[in-house]
Amino acid sequence: MAINIKRPNGTEDVLPKDVHKWLTVEKIARETAESFGFSEIRIPTFENTDLFLRSVGETTDVVQKEMYTVMAKETKFTLRPEGTAGTIRAMLQNGLLNEALPQRVFYILSCFRHERPQAGRLREFHQFGLEMAGSPSPCADAEVISLAKTLLDRLGLKNIELYINSIGCPTCRAKYHEALRSYFEERKDELCDTCLSRLEKNPMRILDCKSPVCGEIAKDAPLIIDYLCEECSEHFEKLKNYLTKLGIDYKVNPKIVRGLDYYTKTVFEFVTTEIGAQGTVCGGGRYDGLIEQLGGQHIPALGFAMGIERLLLVMEKQGCDYLTPKKCDIYFATMGDSALEKAMELSRELREYGYFAEYDMMNRGLKAQMKYANKIGAAFTVVLGDNELNEGKAKLKNMESGDEKEILLDNKFTANFDAVYIDRMLESLEDAEAFPAFPMNKESE
Ligand code: ATP
Ligand code: MG
Repeated sequence: MAINIKRPNGTEDVLPKDVHKWLTVEKIARETAESFGFSEIRIPTFENTDLFLRSVGETTDVVQKEMYTVMAKETKFTLRPEGTAGTIRAMLQNGLLNEALPQRVFYILSCFRHERPQAGRLREFHQFGLEMAGSPSPCADAEVISLAKTLLDRLGLKNIELYINSIGCPTCRAKYHEALRSYFEERKDELCDTCLSRLEKNPMRILDCKSPVCGEIAKDAPLIIDYLCEECSEHFEKLKNYLTKLGIDYKVNPKIVRGLDYYTKTVFEFVTTEIGAQGTVCGGGRYDGLIEQLGGQHIPALGFAMGIERLLLVMEKQGCDYLTPKKCDIYFATMGDSALEKAMELSRELREYGYFAEYDMMNRGLKAQMKYANKIGAAFTVVLGDNELNEGKAKLKNMESGDEKEILLDNKFTANFDAVYIDRMLESLEDAEAFPAFPMNKESE
């Protein structure tokens, strides 16, 4: 039997040629979150399975169909299907919630869900997400939504719609569940088996069933928004008001219920139609009961998560700019052993000063070395041979302009290179028209 060592279905390799795209998203996400007062948190890749049963909810698709669970000795562990449960667990376990509120953390992590792989839907995918704990106020909802919107804008993304809804609190939910139950009860025979079992325990979950038949039945189901209690309605009205004040366009979509059980009051999604069926790039909301449910005090909280693969699909589609990967500053083409040793010595010193330096390690001829320097986009090259070593000087070539300058191979080499390098930087700055703090969508320029 042939061994299968191929990448598992629904996973991806990120190759060196593409990694700068990921770094762009990660860097801008970090900077944006930090500018809103969030700090990074890192949590384990797997947790006790019970954590997800408790928080995500036993009747959700994630728990019922998508979790990767292993039995290790006597204990059941699950690869995290999302970041909120583990993050709140970590905040509780490490006493963060006893410190000054609101506590604000963000994360960039991998998630695992056993789903049917397709464009924008993977089995291992990555999220940028964040959680804010402590504030019951709708201004916190507006703040978190505004952060998501700022990030999408800074990435240069266009045509992404914000949909908001309120799914109420346990008080309004009780009345709503009754209404839903009696609605679905009438068409019980047509529901799928999973939804049938949800009818008693959690009828709201039927609303996000992916089966077309259940979806069709759910179309005319009662809407939660018509069942909100006074406090929840007022919260929602205030949020809408804040969003308008912040100049953030939104649409109320009473059909959004979100796929995880812990949400209360505000839920929201940022959606695009440009990358096919998997167009939700960000999903989030308030979860005022979760911390208590996990053994903490009653502390209201909220957050969101963005799918990084989906963000990158939209960025690619819309031709967004990425931060440019660092390229070789100086390449030493060498002839002979003594020249190679000199190149090694100079490279070590240059690297100490932060330069990206390279020399030949393949024993290539001079012509092939220059071809290689060109291929990797080296900014400068220096040819070193016996002549250069004897005279103690060499030619430093600017690969873009072709200009050559003599440079001494003495202990001032790095300082001399600095001067030439800075001149080149200044020239290219003069050539560049504008220098935006964040990469912009090309169309907007
Ligand atoms: P969907 O409705 O697309 O299944 P979801 O409601 O299950 O999304 P969340 O649990 O809210 O998604 O996760 C937040 C974000 O993570 C999503 O908006 C999406 O961008 C991303 N995401 C979720 N599941 C996947 C997946 N299997 N592959 C890639 N990205 C995903
Ligand atoms: Mg899903």
